[in-house]
Amino acid sequence: MDTLEKVALELLKERGVTLNDMTELVYYLQSQYHDDLSKEECYDNVVKVLKKREVQNAIITGIEIDRLAEEKKLTEPLQTIIENDEGLYGVDEIVAFSVINVYGSIGFTNYGYIDKLKPGILKDLNDKSNGCHTFLDDIVGAIAAAASSRLAHSQDHEVEDD
Ligand code: MG
Repeated sequence: MDTLEKVALELLKERGVTLNDMTELVYYLQSQYHDDLSKEECYDNVVKVLKKREVQNAIITGIEIDRLAEEKKLTEPLQTIIENDEGLYGVDEIVAFSVINVYGSIGFTNYGYIDKLKPGILKDLNDKSNGCHTFLDDIVGAIAAAASSRLAHSQDHEVEDD
């Protein structure tokens, strides 16, 4: 495991997001489409997604901004925008798109679905009493969506990971 991957995983953990939480999201998205889908298979796909440089970059960037907002260290008007997770801001979603993209465009459908229903850990991240997760909720949803795409692709061919 290289340093960036280690840092990204550590940051997720610090912010209350475990591999298990993301595994559950993938299972939630994919279990209806695959007979006998195991949690283990979902977990393996989450781990593969987290090995991607784009994903690690999104994690370290998003969490840093969330943390600075929590500590009220951003300048205005950005501080208020991030703290309140203002709907028209949209840069959090753009960062998430760099994650969704890694296994092709079907990730977008999965992301839209999970972002709307906010199951599991996404519900906790959206509760403002748990801290500022303006970027992280989208990134975690995107990781689950990308892992779901990878899983779907891997059903009919080997997925190339670099
Ligand atoms: Mg957000």
